[in-house]
Amino acid sequence: MIPVCEPLIGDKEWEYVKDCLETNWISSKGKYIEEFERKFAHYCGCKYGISTTSGTTALHLAIATAGIGTGDEVVVPAFTMASTVFAIVYAGAKPVLVDSERETWNIDVSKIEEKLTPRTKAILPVHIYGHPCDMKPILDIAKKHRLSIIEDAAEAHGAEYEGRKVGGLGDIGCFSFYANKIITTGEGGMMLTNRPEIAEKASSLKDLAYFKERRFLHTDLGFNYRMTNIQAAIGLAQFERIEELVERRRANANLYNSLLKDVPGIRLPVEKPRARNVYWMYAVLIEEKFGISRDELMRRLAEKGIETRTFFIPMHQQPALINMGLFRGENYPVAEEISRQGLYLPSGSGLSAAQIEHICQQIKKIRRKGIRE
Ligand SMILES: *Cc1c(COP(=O)(O)O)cnc(C)c1O
Repeated sequence: MIPVCEPLIGDKEWEYVKDCLETNWISSKGKYIEEFERKFAHYCGCKYGISTTSGTTALHLAIATAGIGTGDEVVVPAFTMASTVFAIVYAGAKPVLVDSERETWNIDVSKIEEKLTPRTKAILPVHIYGHPCDMKPILDIAKKHRLSIIEDAAEAHGAEYEGRKVGGLGDIGCFSFYANKIITTGEGGMMLTNRPEIAEKASSLKDLAYFKERRFLHTDLGFNYRMTNIQAAIGLAQFERIEELVERRRANANLYNSLLKDVPGIRLPVEKPRARNVYWMYAVLIEEKFGISRDELMRRLAEKGIETRTFFIPMHQQPALINMGLFRGENYPVAEEISRQGLYLPSGSGLSAAQIEHICQQIKKIRRKGIRE
């Protein structure tokens, strides 16, 4: 079986984890936490990194730190992973959805302003599958209406917009280090910012908000979102070769593109002029003229030992959210269409050229056979 995505664990990860165990620094204090936070934040052009237990908790911490709560609205794309929107709901705020762009599958910037109300507090763009959002107009809208920008960069470690790393372009950036992300800590996440007051508040909230002058006195409702030193040890080892891991994903995508570009009915991922796409997942759309449906293609690839995944299901189609009275009667046609047509092929940094060639050959074969049938 060729899996959709597997982490690449090397000798350094073993060495650093062993060091944690040998020195007894296994909980949420220790040198790897500090070093991983500092180095990853600097890589993204940020002064402060606040590690967390997951990408989801990094998003929740970001929203809480920004002071967003009951009665507030946050603008997000309809097409994203559930964590983005769940985090807003955890904070008691209301997610307000915007449709996607056809080419990059990111939030359609031209449809943001019509969704703003006096209760809007923030825009939460998501860099879908590793392609950066068009940040310049988003930042302009935020400035004009005095809104915060919280980036969900969980899928976009190393991606760039106009030469600057994503996650460091707004007020707060959030990352995930889940096992299939570009670098991993097993489970884990990080919130980034350049603003000292935000960093200080987030550091406090993630650690139960102990009152400084009197431990066990709490003036805020904090969380335990602390990453362990063991996770950070894996993260630091991964970080030390982040550029190699990103370049492998970009090389994989280039090879896929060159092998699939002439296949009718497959829409390939793009890389816009001012963007560096890191292709977290190598994602394509299967259009009608491909001849067989996306689901049939996935089924036949699975028979050949090739694992794939469908795209996200848009947020206005999620029972958990609809049952809360959200998004009733709303439609997001682009999000719905890409969700029906999209799949990702094996995308891990450890994939070989021979595996990619094999996958593309199988796709072409399945298509020819499917059309004859
Ligand atoms: C993976 C992901 C998250 C959540 O990260 P976890 O570490 O799994 O909690 C959030 N947003 C997006 C867009 C993601 O892809």
